[in-house]
Amino acid sequence: MNTLALLGGEPLRKTLFPAYSVIGKEEIDAVRAVMESGILSRYVGAWNEGFYGGPQVRAFEDEWAGAFAARHAVAVNSATSGLISAAGAAGVGPGDEVIVSPYTMMASATAALVFNAVPVFADIDPRTYCLDPESVRSRVTPRTKAIIVVHIFGQAADMDPIMEIAEAHGLVVIEDCAQAPFATYKGRPVGTLGHMGVFSFNYHKHIHTGEGGVVTTNDDGLCERLQLIRNHGEAVVGGKGVVNLIDMVGFNFRMGEIEAAIARCQLAKGPALIAARQANVAYLEGKLAGLPGLALPAVAPGNGHVYYVHALTYDEAALGIPRAAFVKALKAELPATALREREGPLIGEGYVRPLYLEPMYQERIAYGDLGCPFACPFYEGETDYRPGLCPNAETAHGTVITHELMRPPMTEADLDDVAGAFHKVVENLPALRDHHRGG
Ligand SMILES: *Cc1c(COP(=O)(O)O)cnc(C)c1O
Repeated sequence: MNTLALLGGEPLRKTLFPAYSVIGKEEIDAVRAVMESGILSRYVGAWNEGFYGGPQVRAFEDEWAGAFAARHAVAVNSATSGLISAAGAAGVGPGDEVIVSPYTMMASATAALVFNAVPVFADIDPRTYCLDPESVRSRVTPRTKAIIVVHIFGQAADMDPIMEIAEAHGLVVIEDCAQAPFATYKGRPVGTLGHMGVFSFNYHKHIHTGEGGVVTTNDDGLCERLQLIRNHGEAVVGGKGVVNLIDMVGFNFRMGEIEAAIARCQLAKGPALIAARQANVAYLEGKLAGLPGLALPAVAPGNGHVYYVHALTYDEAALGIPRAAFVKALKAELPATALREREGPLIGEGYVRPLYLEPMYQERIAYGDLGCPFACPFYEGETDYRPGLCPNAETAHGTVITHELMRPPMTEADLDDVAGAFHKVVENLPALRDHHRGG
């Protein structure tokens, strides 16, 4: 039996894994055409023809809306700006509560805080890691204004019961689709199931423009509010004759023409890139199935999972060694990925700490030093961010192993090495346990 690299043996593989690079000739040609046109942006923060941006932005919005069968798409410069725009479009304000998953990237919850509303964290379903509708229901109060649903890791949340709760209480539902473009729920694409859907084109995501994002909606009124918040709404409402001034303190969340030209190419490539990921996961799972103590991700019936990451659940009792020691041994067997050399092997533990455990929530300091919005006089509820608030999210943080080693252009030979590393560590568990006990 080969000795583990962590214990002085040879690593299973030393040559880098291939880069996940989705930028090709199409994007280069498209960017060149924009450069030659001389129009790098055409936005104006006033009510005139420049309010809606330049030709690439508008063409991209039409194409994205068409691909997702949404009435509108509003391009923005990140999903963070998209989430902020969506919270503002929903009219979120001081005294309001916004129910959100704690097991997500920070920005999902920060969107509520920007409008001085209070994030209320509901627990996740331990199978999908997405919001558990029953927990959402238990968190609704007369102050609840919106729900931010996150399709985490690439799988859709259970939207039907969440939409029922929202309808019963008159709540706006924002889908954070940053990790799930082209994912489906009962055959329908995410981003069109709630009132607004927010996508990211940050370079970590399935398709990207370096930085960027887009918001989909079927509602004409929400679309107008998204466009206003994106582009200096307070300077536009007068000329445009907008009467609802709530949350019209605008931003510059505008996407440039270069990014929009890239986004058009990326949209065209998206489905094939996702299909390649899904095929890689299927191949890898065939090789990982049956390993003790490592559960493969559960895909709810009817869901199309797009695997932003591949999340395994680690059972410490079954493996007899802490997750950290297992992952350390695993990483020692594998190389980094090209273009991301400094990050080491792209394998992680836990994803994120449930957001309410971060200092901003524990200390309740966001705006100024008076405790706003948590202790804002307009807020009549009481925040609850104690450890133990969302046990399933806390357990997930303690048991999940995520990796990105299934992204195209990983080949079957590359995936064999990934699976081989898992098998090698499992076969060497007795030695690893001895090493671990010995310190
Ligand atoms: C990446 C991500 C975001 C933020 O996207 P940006 O485009 O980087 O602002 C928001 N939510 C989730 C779930 C994400 O993964």
